[in-house]
Amino acid sequence: MSGVIGVLALQGAFEAHEAVLRGMGCQTQQVRTPDDLAKVDSLVLPGGESTTMSHLLVTSGLFDPLQARIDDHLPVFGTCAGMILLSAHIEDGRPDQRCFSAIDIDARRNAYGRQIDSFETDLAVQGIDGDFHAVFIRAPQVVRYGPGVNILARHDDDVVLAREGAVLVASFHPELTDDNRIHRLFIEMLQEV
Ligand code: GLN
Repeated sequence: MSGVIGVLALQGAFEAHEAVLRGMGCQTQQVRTPDDLAKVDSLVLPGGESTTMSHLLVTSGLFDPLQARIDDHLPVFGTCAGMILLSAHIEDGRPDQRCFSAIDIDARRNAYGRQIDSFETDLAVQGIDGDFHAVFIRAPQVVRYGPGVNILARHDDDVVLAREGAVLVASFHPELTDDNRIHRLFIEMLQEV
């Protein structure tokens, strides 16, 4: 059983994640407060704007309890801005922007520049048969990763899907296509950890 899967619902594309998970028969919970967080067994951090989410995490009083749950091995899945929030260090972040150091990667915000700030491509993903069509929107780039990080997909040379322990991150938006196989990877991960 995958338990209750929380979706951080402060800002961004949380409804799309929730719809995918519900479509797969999962029990979900939108998380906006520490009380919501206490009800979940794992958490999805959606795409959106990581500077805004960082600010709202602090003002809602969620940042510190979520940091404590992550330090206590809460399984988490971060997409795009969610990946930035889970990284160890942010390049081109705002000076007051915070992150959880859940996975040993450094992320550079808006790394693909304004001209090509959104693009779509087919990825080969470890553990998935056939290509996965991936949508990138003002995507971050993984500019460093530590030895414990498992690389599950690359686009050209860039790491775009990675896992370390109970933490999965994607620099793209798997919730925006009608292919739930990356969410399935996360749910399979929940059975393991
Ligand atoms: N560029 C955004 C940020 O820095 C992320 C974009 C996204 O989540 N689609 O938070």
